[in-house]
Amino acid sequence: DDLPRTKDTFSIRQSQLELEEELGSGQFGSVQKGYCTLKREGRIPVAVKKLKSEDKSAEEEMLKEADLMRNLTHQRIVRMIGLCRADCIMLVLELCPCGPLNSFLAKHKELKQSTVVQLMWQVAQGMSYLHSKNYVHRDLAARNVLLVSENSAKISDFGMSKALNIGNDYYKAQEAGKWPLKWYAPECVYYWKFDAKSDVWSYGVTLWEATSYGEKPYRKMKGNEILKFLVEDEKRLQKPDFCDEQVYEIMLECWQYDKKDRPTFEEIDQKMKYQQQRLLSL
Ligand code: ADP
Repeated sequence: DDLPRTKDTFSIRQSQLELEEELGSGQFGSVQKGYCTLKREGRIPVAVKKLKSEDKSAEEEMLKEADLMRNLTHQRIVRMIGLCRADCIMLVLELCPCGPLNSFLAKHKELKQSTVVQLMWQVAQGMSYLHSKNYVHRDLAARNVLLVSENSAKISDFGMSKALNIGNDYYKAQEAGKWPLKWYAPECVYYWKFDAKSDVWSYGVTLWEATSYGEKPYRKMKGNEILKFLVEDEKRLQKPDFCDEQVYEIMLECWQYDKKDRPTFEEIDQKMKYQQQRLLSL
């Protein structure tokens, strides 16, 4: 049951953990706030993701998520502290005390658009890193952007993420699962093909959620109605009231039907940096 030697730094003993109140619950189980005591860093605040029950497939999913997160080290990606194997498997993560971006912004409508744009610029930086490591996220949404503070965002929830193989720049899903269709590009829904540019489409929807302070996208629509709206009618989500025109232009670029016409995250990083500075100087 032991993890291989190279992964030792990531294995956490139960005695290192102190668990406190619940922060939220997901499809896997619950997430609790707590502390983890590490040799080098001392006692640090953490979020502990616990599995609900003895579900082997959920366990495998969590191990896969942990395996993937091991390879990610970036300021804009939630850090995995380690994995604890006790009565259940626990994924120990860096704590993001302000929680998900959508619910935070819904409660803080006083925040300036320049702050919102700064947070989404940070998300673009994290995504640029993720893609440079040849991963696709596949579940980028405001609910999966967590805040350390109102000025610091981190990408989380790598449960659906995949490594792309060399020479194969997309991932082909074998079956359609519980997919966040409102965040998916048309080619994902039609052909089950996911690549860097489908994450870019999701980023556009996430940027829409952020600039509208946590509104739900395509509020009254069902999955099948969205494809008609986007593809047959060639419509797009409208500009949120307080969103700047030039920032809305970036969303529209992310939602180009032909993925070749969508920007890369390196380009989005530059564009968002420019917009943030521009908004600050207005
Ligand atoms: P799901 O996988 O179902 O999308 P998660 O299990 O990732 O959801 O997380 C469920 C909830 O737990 C999140 O909505 C968030 O409120 C909270 N949460 C998860 N990770 C963290 C973290 N690192 N810091 C703070 N809160 C977190």
